Amino acid sequence: MVPKVVFGQGSFDQLSSILAPQRKDKAPFIFLVDDVFKSNKELIDRINPRFNDKIVFISADEEPKTSQVDQIVKEIKTEFTYKPSGIIGIGGGTILDLAKAVSIMLTNKGSAADYQGWDLVKSKAIYHVGVPTISGTGAEVSRTTVLSGPVRKLGINSDFTPFDQVILDPDLTIGVPKNQWFYTGMDCFIHCVESLNGTFLNAFSQSYGEKAYDLCKEIFVDNVLSDEESRGKLMMASWHGGMSIAYSQVGVAHAMSYGLSYVLGTKHGVGNCIVFDHLEEFYPKDVILFKEMVKSHGIEIPKHLCANLTDNQLNTMIDIALSLVPLWENALGDNWETIITRDKLKTLYLKM
Ligand code: NAD
Ligand code: ZN
Repeated sequence: MVPKVVFGQGSFDQLSSILAPQRKDKAPFIFLVDDVFKSNKELIDRINPRFNDKIVFISADEEPKTSQVDQIVKEIKTEFTYKPSGIIGIGGGTILDLAKAVSIMLTNKGSAADYQGWDLVKSKAIYHVGVPTISGTGAEVSRTTVLSGPVRKLGINSDFTPFDQVILDPDLTIGVPKNQWFYTGMDCFIHCVESLNGTFLNAFSQSYGEKAYDLCKEIFVDNVLSDEESRGKLMMASWHGGMSIAYSQVGVAHAMSYGLSYVLGTKHGVGNCIVFDHLEEFYPKDVILFKEMVKSHGIEIPKHLCANLTDNQLNTMIDIALSLVPLWENALGDNWETIITRDKLKTLYLKM
């Protein structure tokens, strides 16, 4: 779990005082910042870099890759003699995952791809801090960092992955475009649905999942909150949704969305929405609710993505989805292979 967290409007201003005691002589803090903030002077000033600290702007147009992590680590090692005092990720799930992975790879040998899987990381990561600027993924709280590698899209799941500190300032999410707000918010909703309807469910996951699910309904269904209340509540929904899957698993939507992402580069939030829209067979009442939310917020869910796929692409998509065994076990139980065949996945993908 994340051992330290601050929450509240304006709490981002505590960043410098939170970092100060962690500073080691001559060792910089490296800030990995979503480049959407590159010309946001107000935010950059509040980061307040000192000494040899460095701000690196990173585009979130593509989701993180193992090769990108390796490259950032190489650049840091080339530029600085001392290992950084800390890595601070400021952005959405893309940047938060990069920050987690970079902090791990600064203390572990080889490529990030070597550590995709469960509990493969040997050494403790560099001190790392997460500052989310969009809510929903739960990446700020989870013990994984999801990366596309040479052979698969899979997380580095380990006890060293979670942030040492998180700063939750809902005001940082002001300015998120509406579609993106919905897609990433639905990632949280889908985490709850998949956790609460999974066979891995237990009291720990259920307690967080139910809370996050209710918050999502307040935000996306009831439509009675002020923008300010809604930002704060979505930030906490994301946190609880992440905690819920920490002790269970995600399910059908995530397995299939990973396939879309690997072959077509479809981003996580929108990919989950594209898939979830067709999963009434697995999650009947929540898919109905989802469709209502899409309609009431006037959101476009992309269609016909898979219409022109080659057989090869479709097969890769199916391979990737099927390789995520724990997700299927959670969703459908031990006999999942009798329910979710290659043909079944093909039919579903072709609808998307
Ligand atoms: P993102 O980080 O990809 O960002 C989406 C878009 O929103 C980007 O264009 C970004 O620039 C923009 N944006 C972010 N904050 C903004 C702001 N305040 N104002 C304006 N624009 C802003 O989106 P995401 O949905 O948060 O993250 C998706 C990633 O998270 C995927 O790579 C996925 O694999 C990962 N993920 C990780 C976990 C985990 O537990 N580690 C869980 C779910 C998803
Ligand atoms: Zn997700």
